[in-house]
Amino acid sequence: MAANVIDGKALAAKCKARVAQEVRSFSRRPGLAVIIVGDNPASRTYVNSKRKDCEECGIYSEEYALPAEAGQDALMEVIRTLNAREDIDGILCQLPLPEGYDEEAVLLAIDPDKDVDGFHPVNVGRLSTGQPCFVPCTPAGVMEMLRECGIDPKGKECVVVGRSNIVGKPMAMLLLAAHGTVTICHSRTRDLGEVCRRADILVAAVGKRDLITADMVKEGAVVIDVAMNRNDAGKLCGDVDYGPVSEKVSYITPVPGGVGPMTRAMLMVNTLEAARRHGKA
Ligand code: NAP
Repeated sequence: MAANVIDGKALAAKCKARVAQEVRSFSRRPGLAVIIVGDNPASRTYVNSKRKDCEECGIYSEEYALPAEAGQDALMEVIRTLNAREDIDGILCQLPLPEGYDEEAVLLAIDPDKDVDGFHPVNVGRLSTGQPCFVPCTPAGVMEMLRECGIDPKGKECVVVGRSNIVGKPMAMLLLAAHGTVTICHSRTRDLGEVCRRADILVAAVGKRDLITADMVKEGAVVIDVAMNRNDAGKLCGDVDYGPVSEKVSYITPVPGGVGPMTRAMLMVNTLEAARRHGKA
């Protein structure tokens, strides 16, 4: 039986409409500052879409484009200024930074209460101890998708493939907080297929196309494909061998049109939350 395809685009539109509605009731517009360093084309595309999302949601946005040679000190100065600004609720520095920059120091410099990416160690710690925090947008988007589809991780076997700080680890934390029984896989996992076959909910966040094949998924499982790879024709694709896997599972996210749009929408949700915390409601 063919799977239910989770329409990330439609869910993201719904999410953004909710944000826009709430923003209209605020006494002052929430503000998001996006910093981009260098001229990485993918980063430029992401930053442009963030601006569009802000416009759609009624969020004020500012962009700081620094040349690659601007240097760490100049970048830190921009962050210090933004930390102090009352009209800016969220600050995001587009990663990766060009060579020569200390990403960790940059993430640490952002005020944790403006860290709408949820990458600051304070927010990472809050997430792992179950305190209110900014949750990284991609795993937050996955949880929102599950919620919208009525899929409750409680008591379920959840397998996350990938252990990055921005996707895999926070994804596992969120599933655990939702009472899933969570296993994290990575490049040294001995028998990936065997572990994946146990999953009621399988999240693939690796970056290797066709890594997850039909023989690696359980009949009726929920499969969430976070990855964004390119196939030989240059088209976007995920980690999951979509056609055969979708014949076997109950729910699946497409690439494109799955987790990607939800990630963007969750940045708007986080910015709204930041504004709420800063007393703009
Ligand atoms: P990353 O930092 O490169 O992490 C990849 C993870 O996959 C690592 O933990 C790595 O293990 C693991 N891995 C590599 N080969 C493996 C294998 N053969 N079997 C099992 N695990 C393996 O990547 P990321 O930043 O988390 O991103 C993952 C993917 O999601 C990428 O395709 C990225 O483009 C995509 N992404 C999408 C969105 C979105 O909005 N849709 C957002 C962020 C990222 P080790 O730790 O052992 O090296």
